[in-house]
Amino acid sequence: MAEAPLLDVKGLEAWYGESHVLHGIDFDVRKGEVVTLIGRNGAGKTTTLRSLIGVVGKRRGACIYKGADLLKVAPHKVARLGIGYVPEERGIFSSLTVLENLLFPPAWQAGGMAVDEIYGLFPNLKGRDSTSGTRLSGGEQQMLAIGRILRTGADFILLDEPTEGIAPVIIEEIGAALRILKDRGMTIILVEQNLRFAASIADRHYVLDQGKVVDEISNNALDANMDRLNRYLGV
Ligand code: ATP
Repeated sequence: MAEAPLLDVKGLEAWYGESHVLHGIDFDVRKGEVVTLIGRNGAGKTTTLRSLIGVVGKRRGACIYKGADLLKVAPHKVARLGIGYVPEERGIFSSLTVLENLLFPPAWQAGGMAVDEIYGLFPNLKGRDSTSGTRLSGGEQQMLAIGRILRTGADFILLDEPTEGIAPVIIEEIGAALRILKDRGMTIILVEQNLRFAASIADRHYVLDQGKVVDEISNNALDANMDRLNRYLGV
């Protein structure tokens, strides 16, 4: 029998106040996979990630993770399950230094990365221990935001548009780091608009439109389905 997915999302609905934003999202993620959520602005990608960690209004459906329904887990306990969220705005503490930012979140899980290991993965941060968060470039802040999550011991990472507004050379470096993490068995959901970047790391892609998953495309089939995908994206 095939192994159960690490995460199985079924009929996920979500609201912000009265506004019904997700209308029955279905997708799954297997252990060690990198899966992307793609779609136009406002399709519901960020809301899907936020629903998994419990920071939207009302939710309905099921998000079964390691046998437990995340919709029944209090938001402050989700990190203890090994799930790490890196928001689009990164959430770096600007008044703290690089090292302080890395050391700030508790290491919830055993196996969290040591600071030196994080510097190995993101050499741009090395030697910047005392630099304040605000003095980093956007790309370096993104590296710090990912590094901070790796320190907690998370082995399932939700990454919201890590390439947004970042220089191409830094995008390459972030991609290289994510491929190393994938090789080490990390599971990743990536919200991404940059298809080239998504294709360089993902196994499968889910297309969202108006709060629903409307298509699933394996990475191998991405090129052959580019016209279909561009129609969804309105390109
Ligand atoms: P983007 O790339 O623009 O972030 P997205 O696919 O991630 O797009 P979401 O951010 O999930 O889309 O937004 C889905 C819908 O929910 C949009 O119509 C958006 O306007 C609405 N929305 C997002 N955040 C809120 C909020 N805090 N309150 C009310 N509505 C919201």
